[in-house]
Amino acid sequence: MTKTFNAQPGIYTLDVFGPEVVVAFSGREFPNARRHDFLKSIGVDSENLVTLQQIHSANLVMVNPEMKGEKLFQADGMLTEVSQKALGILTADCVPVFFWDPEKKAAAMVHAGWRGTYQEISTKMLQALRQNFACRNASIQVALGPSIRRCCYQVGSEFGEMFEGFYYPSGEKLAGDKAAHGKMDLIGAIVDQLTGEGLPVQNIHDTGICTVCENDRFFSHRHEKGTENRILSIIQII
Ligand SMILES: [Zn+2]
Repeated sequence: MTKTFNAQPGIYTLDVFGPEVVVAFSGREFPNARRHDFLKSIGVDSENLVTLQQIHSANLVMVNPEMKGEKLFQADGMLTEVSQKALGILTADCVPVFFWDPEKKAAAMVHAGWRGTYQEISTKMLQALRQNFACRNASIQVALGPSIRRCCYQVGSEFGEMFEGFYYPSGEKLAGDKAAHGKMDLIGAIVDQLTGEGLPVQNIHDTGICTVCENDRFFSHRHEKGTENRILSIIQII
């Protein structure tokens, strides 16, 4: 389990990537309207924030020195070797995936729900880091942020075919439903994709936080029946 340091309520920073990057995500104390307060709390200038119009795709964007602002492209992943670019991903159940290569000083973030994971966005990000920055699998570090987990992620049986080995049928039929329901291990599927692409498993650091189990601390779209508020996950090269 990854060590998180919680200095103030609603501010979660990850120290596993070392001192050259800011790696953080926000809690319930920071709804969308307080996004800039969160950035200030983690020492990030709001001017540096770069976000995407997230569409559950596997589209990736290279962030260059000129880019800044919110919802710049229809995409779900960003990578950069530029410092002072705060790559921001917004989630409320989907998985924010942080990438950092201390050797090549390259950072990336991915928004990985089931659709993005089905399109193997995390695998594609590993490939993009290798191709664009000559990163090595042995050097790339990955962290998995707060998200809905196997304990709480109820899905239809069609997930059994899409994510073989990561769907756990409940064995019970819900009233009025034709399909038996089960639970989906989205984190397991992402870890499997990353290790299948050559990332050493010890390079993957999981916060272990479930947005439903820990809904008192984090936003959950499912549990809160469609909240508009999002967890903001940030990686910024210092
Ligand atoms: Zn849970």
